[in-house]
Amino acid sequence: MPTLADVVDLLHAWYPPESADSFDAVGLVAGDPSVEVAKVMFAVDPTVEVAREAVEWGADLLVVHHPLFLTPVSSVAATTPKGRTLHTLTSGGCALLTAHTNADQASSGVSEALALALGLRDLAPILPASEGAATGTGRVGTVEETSLEAFAARVGQSLPATAHGVRVAGAPDRVVRRVAVCGGSGDFLLDELAHGDVDVYVTSDLRHHRAAEFLEHDGPALVDVAHWAAEWTWLPVVEARLRGATGDRVDTRVSTQCTDPWSFRY
Ligand SMILES: [Zn+2]
Repeated sequence: MPTLADVVDLLHAWYPPESADSFDAVGLVAGDPSVEVAKVMFAVDPTVEVAREAVEWGADLLVVHHPLFLTPVSSVAATTPKGRTLHTLTSGGCALLTAHTNADQASSGVSEALALALGLRDLAPILPASEGAATGTGRVGTVEETSLEAFAARVGQSLPATAHGVRVAGAPDRVVRRVAVCGGSGDFLLDELAHGDVDVYVTSDLRHHRAAEFLEHDGPALVDVAHWAAEWTWLPVVEARLRGATGDRVDTRVSTQCTDPWSFRY
């Protein structure tokens, strides 16, 4: 049976921590590298509910996308939400590992998983990590020519359900063929995409002024999806990768708990 160190080595080979953004905090957060790992669970957010699910299932390792500790803390007492998550995991014998911006940019990473989940082909990064690289920020690809309305319906069917749903900015009958995607908060790429050949940009957390100004410049249509739902598409990808690499010696599970903060709408 692999040790925690073995599993960490695999994940770090696929999603190198040194490729993470400088602000980020990735890698092993808690756990003893020498212990054996039989069960690994994957989730987007390290909420206390997700930690409980991992421990109740008997996970030895919880792999999450969003860091539990992105900024320094002076206490991890179980009187705080982050402390409760850590306490739940460590007292249940479950390690914690974060793969955040290092997972965004990689091959078989978050943006690539989102692109493939939406049926995009001929993928290339929006901002390559280096010239000609297949890795980098976001992905752009093609779909068979369709309308914006039909494409948005496909997006809704391809992602896990959320109260947020799929918000669209653009004419329903607009032709869609070239599609750009970025998992997570992608408004930092709007300028990059404003004048290219992209018909629609799929991302999360777009704000009123930036979106409105973007549309005024006849840029691509915008599809805004739930942050959690977009990034969730990566979990089955990394799960399958780990299963393949460990020859099914490790049992795996993808959490289906929706941790998107928006819980309902009128
Ligand atoms: Zn995110």
